[in-house]
Amino acid sequence: MRVSQLFTKTSKTAPGDEVSKNAQLLIRAGFIHKEMAGVYDYLPLGKIVLNKVIDVIREEMDAIGGNELSLTALQQKDVWEASGRWDDKVMDVWFKTKLANGSELGLAPTHEEPLTKLMKSFISSYKDLPVYPYQFQIKFRNELRSKSGLMRGREFWMKDLYSFSRDQAEHDAFYERISEAYDRVYARLGLGDITFKTFASGGSFAKYSHEFQTLSSVGEDKIYVHKGKNIAINEEVYNDEVLASLGITKDELVEETAVEVGNIFTLGTKYSDALNLNFTDEDGVSKPVVMGSYGIGPSRVMGLIAEHFSDDKGLVWPENVAPAKVYLVRIGAEQAIAHADELYDELMAKGVDVLYDDRDERPGTKFADAELMGIPYRVTVSDRLIEAGQYEFTPRTGGDTTLLTRDELLDKLN
Ligand code: ATP
Ligand code: MG
Repeated sequence: MRVSQLFTKTSKTAPGDEVSKNAQLLIRAGFIHKEMAGVYDYLPLGKIVLNKVIDVIREEMDAIGGNELSLTALQQKDVWEASGRWDDKVMDVWFKTKLANGSELGLAPTHEEPLTKLMKSFISSYKDLPVYPYQFQIKFRNELRSKSGLMRGREFWMKDLYSFSRDQAEHDAFYERISEAYDRVYARLGLGDITFKTFASGGSFAKYSHEFQTLSSVGEDKIYVHKGKNIAINEEVYNDEVLASLGITKDELVEETAVEVGNIFTLGTKYSDALNLNFTDEDGVSKPVVMGSYGIGPSRVMGLIAEHFSDDKGLVWPENVAPAKVYLVRIGAEQAIAHADELYDELMAKGVDVLYDDRDERPGTKFADAELMGIPYRVTVSDRLIEAGQYEFTPRTGGDTTLLTRDELLDKLN
């Protein structure tokens, strides 16, 4: 991609009312635009990052048998009444609206109810189970406080997968598999070392649910981490009974603040009972389907990565989610233009994503933009370097500028 073709611009300042670091940086770098508190547009570079986060999650969900679909955001009231969640006192984050004829609709905050109803058209026998539909979808929640940028949106992206199983044993086996898939997701996103599978309250069908909590000083959750066992306990279930059942003592735990980046939840037959989703088992008996739900917030993850890996110069993307691997800075006229154009074409042909700064801007402006945007490697082409047969190679973090020959450069970037 050529910077001259991007309509976005970087900025030295963020809107005065924006208090979160991730949103300030993402706005300044031109990745997102703020519409209002908790509501952001994804601009071209931001959409690339969001898509990369989504792609990692999609690969891991497909690998465990997920079926991707896309459900509507406009929701009929009756399915939510059936489960008791239409009531604003039960679900306090509803956005509701009306059809022209006056009937009420909701903007989906989650999708258990409508999906359970939809699956009635497809599940009737044990032969139809298990199944694992999932989606990436914008959810709407009228969050009371929305001061954490992308980490708590009123409109945000969610990956939600739902499992439909014959019995508890089949459910439990899948629950373990998706838990391992979540570990792979966070490892691939560069968050493996600071993300802990956390025991949390489980509702009425399981003793616990599990949250995936990433350590962060701006987190809204308090957890107790056991570094040796690589697990944690949410403060809501932090008590002697839980500690005993896990074979852990208080002095082995460290109190931390964290952000919930995902969760896995046993639903039992709560929604299948409410909406009559039953199947006929091998023995001819009609039984309710056993369900689970499994969320990840791609936009929250993006905000967290932006916030966590940033420094005083701007964003610092891990390579897997960076909008490009290389920021190519061109300094000079004809000779530099021809040389940089050609390097850009070669790298793109080799499958290396390049953001090519082909603008007539001062070198200092280009360097500052490369840093603010957080692209992992900066490569500089100039008349002086061309004459020496060299390229400047500058990692965004963890190393100084080195001078490389063309072969050394191509080697590094492969
Ligand atoms: P929280 O306790 O932080 O409000 P939640 O328990 O309401 O989260 P879920 O309903 O389980 O979250 O949603 C699944 C996932 O969606 C969460 O793990 C989180 O990653 C993400 N998520 C939830 N609410 C938001 C939000 N307002 N903005 C961005 N991501 C969110
Ligand atoms: Mg919530």
